[in-house]
Amino acid sequence: MIEVKNLGKRYGDKVAVDDLSFTVRPGIVTGFLGPNGAGKSTTMRMIVGLDAPTSGSVTVNGRRYADHAAPLHEIGALLEAKAVHTGRSAYHHLLALAATTGISRRRVNEVIDLVGLREVARKRAGGFSLGMGQRLGIASALLGDPQTVLLDEPVNGLDPEGVRWIRNLLKGLAAEGRTVFISSHLMSEMALTAEHLVVVGRGRLIADVPMDGFCGLA
Ligand code: ADP
Ligand code: ADP
Repeated sequence: MIEVKNLGKRYGDKVAVDDLSFTVRPGIVTGFLGPNGAGKSTTMRMIVGLDAPTSGSVTVNGRRYADHAAPLHEIGALLEAKAVHTGRSAYHHLLALAATTGISRRRVNEVIDLVGLREVARKRAGGFSLGMGQRLGIASALLGDPQTVLLDEPVNGLDPEGVRWIRNLLKGLAAEGRTVFISSHLMSEMALTAEHLVVVGRGRLIADVPMDGFCGLA
């Protein structure tokens, strides 16, 4: 469970997040919808503990991370679609990440299969397409088998088959009882993936509703 209370973030004079309060429950996929610049990424960074709030608070399963990043086995996050610049194979990239957090080689292999990277696991991750890079980012997020999964614009750069794949993956993670929170600027995507919707604009909460309450707009 993610609890955001009166959360605010300023960068100088710029208000990125403005008195935002909402709860993300386990067991369903919750979508975080809003146009570019609405404050979604900033909110997600504060949830994970990569950015400190200017005001208000965030807890994840009762824990407050403030400004130290949450451990991989508590929150798995894909925060921006940034390419991995490495000469390493995808397998060794994940293995190196696992080694820093005491995660086993067996788990690395499980995650490679889970995200469908087996065939390219020996290839240089730096040369991956956007879609493969997204899968690798998702693999990194899931490595610690976290209870809470946060993905910022996860379908970016994926082809239709990849989009269907991620939708099923997210629903499966939620069905296992995890808290799954994903951002998008596309209502059409959210309508197919999320059961609950948190909508923001200019840093402020616009709606916090079950998806079926939004059907007319989808
Ligand atoms: P979204 O993810 O919804 O596109 P962001 O959280 O990235 O929105 O950005 C919200 C607002 O905060 C935007 O106006 C953006 O320009 C601003 N912003 C985000 N990060 C920074 C930063 N590090 N410094 C200054 N302004 C920022
Ligand atoms: P090491 O990790 O010390 O290189 P391994 O026997 O684990 O030894 O790996 C040998 C090579 O095989 C590595 O270069 C690695 O990239 C590749 N490899 C091993 N296991 C896998 C795997 N599950 N998927 C893809 N490549 C693998």
